[in-house]
Amino acid sequence: MRIFSNKQKADYTKTLQKGISYVRGLRGGLTDDTGSREENILRLKDELGRADVIVIGAGAGLSTAAGFTYSGERFDRYFFDFKERFGIRDMYSGGFYVMNHSPEESWAYWSRYIYINRYMDPPKPVYEELLELVKDKDYFVLTTNVDHCFQKAGFDKHRLFYTQGDYGLWQCSKPCHKKTYSNEETVRKMVLAQWFAIGDDSTLEIPEGTELRMTIPSELVPRCPVCGEPMSMNLRADDSFVEDEGWHMAAGRYSDFLRRHQNMKTLFLEAAVGFNTPGIVKYSFWQMTNEWKDATYACLNYGQAYAPDEIKSKSICINGDIGEILSQLK
Ligand SMILES: [Zn+2]
Repeated sequence: MRIFSNKQKADYTKTLQKGISYVRGLRGGLTDDTGSREENILRLKDELGRADVIVIGAGAGLSTAAGFTYSGERFDRYFFDFKERFGIRDMYSGGFYVMNHSPEESWAYWSRYIYINRYMDPPKPVYEELLELVKDKDYFVLTTNVDHCFQKAGFDKHRLFYTQGDYGLWQCSKPCHKKTYSNEETVRKMVLAQWFAIGDDSTLEIPEGTELRMTIPSELVPRCPVCGEPMSMNLRADDSFVEDEGWHMAAGRYSDFLRRHQNMKTLFLEAAVGFNTPGIVKYSFWQMTNEWKDATYACLNYGQAYAPDEIKSKSICINGDIGEILSQLK
């Protein structure tokens, strides 16, 4: 099994490396000028209709467009007490801040964070609209998102590769072994222990007149079942990230999918991928669009819809809110 896993990872890594060397060798610059908005929408509609294969690459902006925002009203609703006491201003930075606190307090914070971003549905049906566009095609999704929104919207889990982890999984923090564990049951217990209620539709609610606790009972602090060390989130932050069997299998399926389809009419559909981690989706999509005979690259992004000049004739760049763009493509 281990030999298999190494090969699966090696193939995936090779895809990324090819993307990076392609970008290093680029002569021209980047362009966002692939036509007017109307022309781009029409071309993309046409490509969506004619493509045999669609490879979706999705980044954080897709969940933002679906309403999974990490500051503002949503943060205030579930974290007002942490905001008041510690001056935390958004969910993301607060996640780092509370790591210096006791495990009971840190997990109180993280369990709310995990629950609302992993076990609740996003407010807007952006993922469902994306699925509607591709569901009758041979598709595959590569994503750096860790919030499970693709599966919640009904995408086939065998056509998904979550490269950077999952809010719904824990791992040993050392890590002493390469397994991950679903955290759903414990996370539910953790939020209930802070006096939240869980509604029929899984929504996290604060019952009227309830004062929330900002800590959880010590017995709920998760520990590794093998070595007893604390558990941590299965998120790629450093080299302690556990790539479990599921990760390797998904990596293998992604590489197989690319291998089997490279001579077919393919649309690389990049949805809200920024320039924070361009090496995973963007660069490899550019490289494959350039190399594959019958490939088109579509870049949907709010403010950063670019393609290399070199593949301009094979590219469609649409700048704007991804939710709006998707509804125009119906
Ligand atoms: Zn361990």
